[in-house]
Amino acid sequence: MFSVTEVVTPRGTLQYREEKYSGFRCRISPDRRMRQIDQSPFALPAVENCPFCPDQVFTVTPTFPDGSRIIRGESVTFPNLYPFGEGHVVTVITRNHSADVFSRKQLVDAFRGISEAILPVGGYSTINWNFLPSAGASVIHPHMQGLSDQMPTHVVSRYLSASHEHYSRYGVNYWDAVKEKEKASDRYLFGEEIIWSAHAVPLGEREVRGILPIATIDEFDAYIDLLARGVLENLTLFRNLGTYAFNLSLCFDKSHNTDGMRAFCSMISRINPNPTSTSDSAFMERMHLEPVIMTLPEDLGKFYRKEKR
Ligand SMILES: [Zn+2]
Repeated sequence: MFSVTEVVTPRGTLQYREEKYSGFRCRISPDRRMRQIDQSPFALPAVENCPFCPDQVFTVTPTFPDGSRIIRGESVTFPNLYPFGEGHVVTVITRNHSADVFSRKQLVDAFRGISEAILPVGGYSTINWNFLPSAGASVIHPHMQGLSDQMPTHVVSRYLSASHEHYSRYGVNYWDAVKEKEKASDRYLFGEEIIWSAHAVPLGEREVRGILPIATIDEFDAYIDLLARGVLENLTLFRNLGTYAFNLSLCFDKSHNTDGMRAFCSMISRINPNPTSTSDSAFMERMHLEPVIMTLPEDLGKFYRKEKR
């Protein structure tokens, strides 16, 4: 399902890897670990005027058109104030502002609240989490973001094509074939119904991926508990390796098709040379390979011409 090309250089051997059907590529250079920029303590700036803390979340955050927010356990879900998707919601996971460990119930409640919010939107749904500023979180208070769009993200669209191509060639679903290979590989981590493995062609540091036996978000409820357990297991793995910041994306197909995509959850650890600085690359840039831009290119042109006058 992927190719490895080894390149020997005077300063170590590196690998170019490419996933056959999606075309995604990465370079792996194990010797770069010697730079030791990936070990730093868990550090947070002091709390100040947080809109997601319990004293503010019910007053300053937007509501759905009927005036409500979705509350499941500790979690609170509401529309994103600055959306970059058709159905873009935020789910505050904990009451605690600076939680660094999470219970299974906290994650289950958050996944449940967020999926209830984006399910009615239809389209291609994703559930995403930037944890800590160095992973692109603009608010420290732990929160997820749910999106549902008529257009799939770049990564999802490549996997939809990969799934279709694999099925047309072999009459076997791509994800079933990947699961079988991963289960038998050195990359396998754990799980039976959700197979978790270190992804063969990682899109980020220590990418782990879980493939669910479902395709769409309306099938998700029965697997929320199992997914939450897997996510917690991977967070422990990341922490044992010395990193706290991470991005997570859970991607669904729009409908259930034999030649379609299976839902998959991907997590990458973010290395933190400056753990308290806020990165400008978050889940859209790192997990979906689709940058969110603020400046209209035409406005940049206009600005340039105005300045030159
Ligand atoms: Zn807070």
